Amino acid sequence: MGPAAKAEEVKLLWLQTAMDEDVSLQGLNSILSGTEGPRGGLWIWALGILFVLREVELGCLTLGCVKLDANAKKVTLCLPVSKKDPGGRGARRSRDCRCGGLRSVSCPWCVAVTLFDEQVLRLGGFEEEAPLFGTVCSARSFVAKNKMIEEAQAMASLIKERVSDAENLRIEAVTGHFMRRSGVKMLARSGVALDLIQWWSRHSSAAILGYVEEAMEECPEGKDKLQSYLSFQEQLAAMSTETGTLKDMALQIAVRVDNLEKGSLCDFDVAELKSDLESWLTPEFVVSVRSKKIHSTRGCNFRKPPLEWTTVCGWPFNESGRMAKPMSRERFETSKHERCARCFP
Ligand SMILES: [Zn+2]
Ligand SMILES: [Zn+2]
Repeated sequence: MGPAAKAEEVKLLWLQTAMDEDVSLQGLNSILSGTEGPRGGLWIWALGILFVLREVELGCLTLGCVKLDANAKKVTLCLPVSKKDPGGRGARRSRDCRCGGLRSVSCPWCVAVTLFDEQVLRLGGFEEEAPLFGTVCSARSFVAKNKMIEEAQAMASLIKERVSDAENLRIEAVTGHFMRRSGVKMLARSGVALDLIQWWSRHSSAAILGYVEEAMEECPEGKDKLQSYLSFQEQLAAMSTETGTLKDMALQIAVRVDNLEKGSLCDFDVAELKSDLESWLTPEFVVSVRSKKIHSTRGCNFRKPPLEWTTVCGWPFNESGRMAKPMSRERFETSKHERCARCFP
């Protein structure tokens, strides 16, 4: 077995959990803080997992190979086609914001922007050839391969310590290919088809990959292939939840009306039913399934199309499908969920 098969998986979800539980891990400071190690905190590993990178490829990324489209909130990385050419830039891969701008570490756009902005700030301006992240002591120095691994293992030790699901993590097996293994397994678990995973991960059966790459480069929407697929899956999931809930509601109404006709329900109150419906369709509060935080829809213009509805902090919650759950005022008042700092200042 090659090194790829031996590397340990470090789940992106674990990074998310660790960061949710300890705010200090949301910064970009190195975990190990060795002067030659990478600056970028847990964010660099998230980027590597999301884009299925080898540690050398991650360390070789420049500001110039990260293309940001702020309107579409879409990031395109220009990556090596094969492992024989870690500085190559022939393969383009795009993903967009999946978290409604909440700067989630699981969101490809937000992760890329966080690292990019930090580095531009550190350099005092954009420099095409500068690393996307430098070493702890120098913004212009690329991180050496062995320092990447040292930092990755320090990160893995921290995750093992903090996240209960990660207690069996073998630190010494967190080697150069751990992000590729973790990224590929994450995609496979989301139901992404094998050919799409192979293309996304630039899997190195060089000849075949070369042909696939050529075909994709020739097609203008090629680099968005994975994103389109995942968006479609999410839309389907959101649609099925929504139709499920609508069906339940229709059923409940039918039962109530039925009871009314039979005269068995004396306290039937049309006003109450109307307000129930209203509070479900236009929730006062929305919980993010991912971050478990409660957001407020105060001031939201519900006359606009539902996809444009936002929380106070700007989250277009209906776009998130089943990642957003409506919450009534009644439940809000007793809920122990954390409240969004921007929605509840
Ligand atoms: Zn995002
Ligand atoms: Zn909020």
